[in-house]
Amino acid sequence: MDKDAKIYVAGHRGLVGSALVRELARLGYRNLLLRESRELDLRNQADTLAFFQAERPEYVFLAAAKVGGIAANNSFPADFIYDNLMIQNNVIHSAYLNGVIKLLLLGSTCIYPRLAPQPIREEALLTGPLEPTNEPYAIAKIAGIKLCQSYNRQYGTRFISAMPTNLYGPNDNFDLDSSHVLPALMRKFHEAKVSGSQSVTVWGSGTPYREFVHVDDVARASLFLMERYEGWEPVNIGSGQELTIRELAEKIREVVGFTGEIVFDSSKPDGTPRKLSDVSRIHQLGWRHGIELVQGLRDTYAWYLGNLC
Ligand code: GDP
Repeated sequence: MDKDAKIYVAGHRGLVGSALVRELARLGYRNLLLRESRELDLRNQADTLAFFQAERPEYVFLAAAKVGGIAANNSFPADFIYDNLMIQNNVIHSAYLNGVIKLLLLGSTCIYPRLAPQPIREEALLTGPLEPTNEPYAIAKIAGIKLCQSYNRQYGTRFISAMPTNLYGPNDNFDLDSSHVLPALMRKFHEAKVSGSQSVTVWGSGTPYREFVHVDDVARASLFLMERYEGWEPVNIGSGQELTIRELAEKIREVVGFTGEIVFDSSKPDGTPRKLSDVSRIHQLGWRHGIELVQGLRDTYAWYLGNLC
């Protein structure tokens, strides 16, 4: 991509999209195409097509999606499957019709079977049943991968896909009902510290393992793949390092400086027991994550204090 290339970042107000915009700007890309969802509803086919016809982007980062944590996925399954299928269908088909040079679809490692061998290789896709708590979202993202592959096969497009593991960072959603675990716990510990409360409640048993990757790493990996990767198979983006929810809670407690207790609420779901991505494909391509978890937690807490408190 040259620095004047017309690059559309779909979902630029979100966690990944905003990190992509920061990284592209830092590297001197000066022709970014951005639309807020209230200006352009990507679930609307006619509006999406008209936008592509008028603007003719050359590169597309498809980071627009309906996303959320375990409770949101469980409560709004129809929104998670419908919104994501519509956004992907409209953007990918419009990109094909309007000669987009290359497109990168962002998904998530929850597309892999619930009991896939760990660490999870990209080849595990469609080899077994999915985790029920986020199956509608995962089915939509799997359809997105298959859309990209099918357009490549039938029309010779260059549509690739990347699957980041659980991600976090500035601009994350800190709403306790809809967020993922990391921002939720950061907020809970912070509010407990400020209010002088004795304990913080963590959902589930604390035993599931999760892997986390900082969104600035995901943005760098996405750009790297846009420049270098031509394969049709998805590429995992992760740190390759996992920890239990209990260990995560302890780390966040320390970063926030809360001294009270951690209590587990086993009436809440655990979700998938383990979800460690195999990152050897992206390592072989020449990319590695750079931000370690504790540093990322400190940066994210500083952002939270500066922006949401
Ligand atoms: P998942 O990775 O798709 O399961 O999504 P989440 O990030 O929402 O949840 C990861 C794990 O953290 C699950 O086992 C949750 O039960 C657990 N968890 C513990 N406390 C919380 C919380 O306050 N919010 C959320 N979203 N998850 C929590």
